[in-house]
Amino acid sequence: MKRTLKQDRQQSAQPLSPEDLLLGTLGMQAVGADLASHMKRAQLNKHELARVAGLSPSYIGYLERNEIKKVGRDKIVWFATAANLDLEKTNQILARYQLDRIGPSDASLFIQASRRRKIIGVQPVYHGLGYDVLMLALERLEGDLVVVHDMPLAALRSPEYAIFSDSVKWEEKWAMEFQKLKGLEPFDDTVQELYARRLLDSIYLEIRLGLHRERLKNVRAILSKGFSVELLVCRGCFEDHVAQRSGADTPERQHLVQHLATHLVFMRQFPAFRFRLVEDCPQLRFEIKHTPGKADDGHVFLSGKVRHYHVQRTSDRLLGFASDSRKLYKFLNMEYARLRDLAGNTAWDPEAVREQIIGVCEKRDIKKVEILRAEKMVESLPLYA
Ligand SMILES: [Zn+2]
Repeated sequence: MKRTLKQDRQQSAQPLSPEDLLLGTLGMQAVGADLASHMKRAQLNKHELARVAGLSPSYIGYLERNEIKKVGRDKIVWFATAANLDLEKTNQILARYQLDRIGPSDASLFIQASRRRKIIGVQPVYHGLGYDVLMLALERLEGDLVVVHDMPLAALRSPEYAIFSDSVKWEEKWAMEFQKLKGLEPFDDTVQELYARRLLDSIYLEIRLGLHRERLKNVRAILSKGFSVELLVCRGCFEDHVAQRSGADTPERQHLVQHLATHLVFMRQFPAFRFRLVEDCPQLRFEIKHTPGKADDGHVFLSGKVRHYHVQRTSDRLLGFASDSRKLYKFLNMEYARLRDLAGNTAWDPEAVREQIIGVCEKRDIKKVEILRAEKMVESLPLYA
């Protein structure tokens, strides 16, 4: 029997495990218990979750006790990103309130979530949309930004580049899955389920696209307000990064050239945008957001390093932590100062850094003229202007 796309969506909106069928019969009573278990997993109590989600504690209480019959979709999304829920779990909650599933046009709800998000205590960051929402929330805070990393500034990638590696790997994965399933009827249930998950994945990518557009705009906004952005990247890691992406005539090469050209354009447009290559390879990747006017206060995000990318992407894969802990802030500041001092003051000269970046590219057959062309193109894009 053939099913329509609409039926697919309805079907995937209601996961049909025996547990869910049971919850369905219990109706709204199940929602409160569900929310409580999500909070427990995120290690947040009601008050903390309320601050992180930008909702009031009493509102969270009403939700837990099922005292609200009509809940806004926006509030479910704010709750879900604060509790690090993936799209499927978010859709399950929406379905219980008879609300539409997350669609491609919902990026604005996630951007709102980042505006409301408070970084308090120590918050885990998992793979998925929660990561983008949190990075946007951190980078959006007023204050100077310091980034210590093994690659150029992620927020300066074109939005298409940001989702490119995800989508490429998923295309490959799906091709393999379909290969394995060859010989099955086209509307076999397993294939049907793959279609439904694929639909979810395209929505995920669409929302990430929106979030990345916002991150890019945000860097410019922070610099325009007079705050600085300092980027320290290990030279060896940077050379590897360029080498891995510089294959002739690949879309990845074009993305890379545009990404680097964006750094060069920003360095020219904003003296407070400082990029330098350091000889010492940082053991941790971290971002520090200084609170204006408070010398020993700020917010941080830190994560480990991934050496080999996996196809598997799961929302319970822990990537790192964000925190407003003063001690963590001090430790990371000390590490930043150590790396900065090792490089010496001359490494800040924008002209010298520009030549270094172009030099690394030329070693990989990316010609200077290609980079200059990309700079002109970046300057003409409305998103960067
Ligand atoms: Zn390195």
